[in-house]
Amino acid sequence: MALLEVRDLHAGIEDCEILRGLDLTVNAGEVHAIMGPNGSGKSTLSHIISGKPGYRVSTGRILFKDEDLLAMEADERAAKGVFLAFQYPVEIPGVTTMNFLRAALNAQRGARAQKEFSTPDFLKRVREVAKSLNIPEGVLKRGLNVGFSGGEKKRNEILQMALLEPSLCILDEIDSGLDIDALRIVADGINALRSPERAMIVITHYRRLLDYIEPDVVHVMSKGQVRKSGGKELALELEARGYAQFEGAA
Ligand code: ADP
Ligand code: MG
Ligand code: MG
Repeated sequence: MALLEVRDLHAGIEDCEILRGLDLTVNAGEVHAIMGPNGSGKSTLSHIISGKPGYRVSTGRILFKDEDLLAMEADERAAKGVFLAFQYPVEIPGVTTMNFLRAALNAQRGARAQKEFSTPDFLKRVREVAKSLNIPEGVLKRGLNVGFSGGEKKRNEILQMALLEPSLCILDEIDSGLDIDALRIVADGINALRSPERAMIVITHYRRLLDYIEPDVVHVMSKGQVRKSGGKELALELEARGYAQFEGAA
């Protein structure tokens, strides 16, 4: 059984079809990279998997752990282990990172009918994970993402991901706006979360990220479909030859 199976997915916004018969199979333990030009539908796919409202699915299906993902609300999907790291993390003044993380974690535990973490248990856990990501404790006490650099925001997303321990992590252009040092820290954090039970979908425009996060499978998306899938050498081919070669093929 695959962890995630997307079959002949046609979806979009209102009357505009963005995904045009997309197929994707992701097994537990695998890291998949999705590459493709701007506007090919990469973010749309990640939003539809995570359950962001506003999209219309006309045909096709998505199975997650053999269950119909499209029939679930977004919070139910999160409770089942789907996590989407945001391309542009939001700033929330007045809510500390610590309180935000605690609320996210307890919401997930509540949806799973698990007991909330006690304050000491939560603090112990969050400090452990923050330390592993080189996040100073002072940062956790500041307003969520307020005044954070691009790298710090992305690191916060990884911190949240590490705490929630999802089975499917979707990282949409986590590399955008990061300098090399920040990229390396974020990539190290992601690599530390690789495990046989967990799969990752890494969406990126550039091959550079894949120097740090080595994918098992690379997909090329264009015009709402996966046009080609292969090993990591496909990313090199793309860098050398560009996306244009995939535009016509279907
Ligand atoms: P990518 O992430 O690969 O750059 P997107 O999924 O963001 O691509 O967008 C795919 C296509 O859907 C683009 O042509 C874009 O213009 C269109 N699109 C995205 N969001 C909307 C929206 N809110 N309303 C209408 N069209 C949209
Ligand atoms: Mg995008
Ligand atoms: Mg498209």
